[in-house]
Amino acid sequence: MAAAAPVSKIDGAAYLPLETLARENGLAYQYDPILKNALLTGPKGIFKTHVGAEFAWDGRRLIRLERKVCLSDGAVMVPESALEYLMPAPTPAPEPAVVSRPIRIVIDAGHGGHDFGAISRGLAEKRVVLEVARGVWQELEKAGFRVRMTRKGDEFIPLEGRVRVAGDDDADFFVSIHANASLSKSLKGFETYYLSEKADDEFLAQNRAGHEPFRSETAKFDLRNNELKAVVWDLKQEDNRRRSVNLAETIGRSVERSVSISNRRFRSAEFFVLKWTDCPAVLVEMGYLTNDEDEKNLKQPSYRRQMAHAIAEGIIQYAGRAR
Ligand SMILES: [Zn+2]
Repeated sequence: MAAAAPVSKIDGAAYLPLETLARENGLAYQYDPILKNALLTGPKGIFKTHVGAEFAWDGRRLIRLERKVCLSDGAVMVPESALEYLMPAPTPAPEPAVVSRPIRIVIDAGHGGHDFGAISRGLAEKRVVLEVARGVWQELEKAGFRVRMTRKGDEFIPLEGRVRVAGDDDADFFVSIHANASLSKSLKGFETYYLSEKADDEFLAQNRAGHEPFRSETAKFDLRNNELKAVVWDLKQEDNRRRSVNLAETIGRSVERSVSISNRRFRSAEFFVLKWTDCPAVLVEMGYLTNDEDEKNLKQPSYRRQMAHAIAEGIIQYAGRAR
């Protein structure tokens, strides 16, 4: 049972000081007075909120609160009814039923149609990535995941269309598959990318200044027009980024283990599909078509199968841990 924290009345409603509640129950608590974000990590997982917001984020979904989170004498105050999300119920609940919803993954084969992507002597990125993406899709379906492909054939899908597939399908994560090219022919190796923090900070700064870096007809992008919703985006993106880093690392290590290609590690970038996907998202570059060794390998069907297997393995491992 939760140790008592003093209840205060604010505008006639019962509120609890989040920090005191955390301290008295030995829970981790952080507050960023600049961003006004508060994070409590309790037995029920994370509870992240923002002063002025009427909701909190539990790492998976938004929790609507009865009233707005506010500050009182410098302390972050949450409505008393939020306690059920912060602390375990007084009597032990029966084991929750196993979640039956299969994990949903979107596999995005880069480019397609008139967009060939990188081209080497006789090898177009759009074809290599589609073949590997199909291999990943088959392995993931076999492992019991529900997989959507952004394209199954040689067709052009705009970037927004790719992002929309993830949103429409309520995807748990998104993996975009590419092959790289460089003016430097010696550059080679496998790379995984996740969205950089810097990119997000810039996005938020632009957002706060009321700028609109991209225009889109979809409602999802209109989130930015509303400050409150921008905060939701902020909380979700931070959590998505943390998961994306893990996913990127796991895929990179899996490829390193079973494919003979140097793993050039994972790095952050500001790719459109990473920035606007509303779930953890990574982009893999399976080698450089402009490098003789990588190109020779990627031309081999057996190598492509190995690559698909290793990427799928990485995703399965990550999903197993995240489950
Ligand atoms: Zn590409």
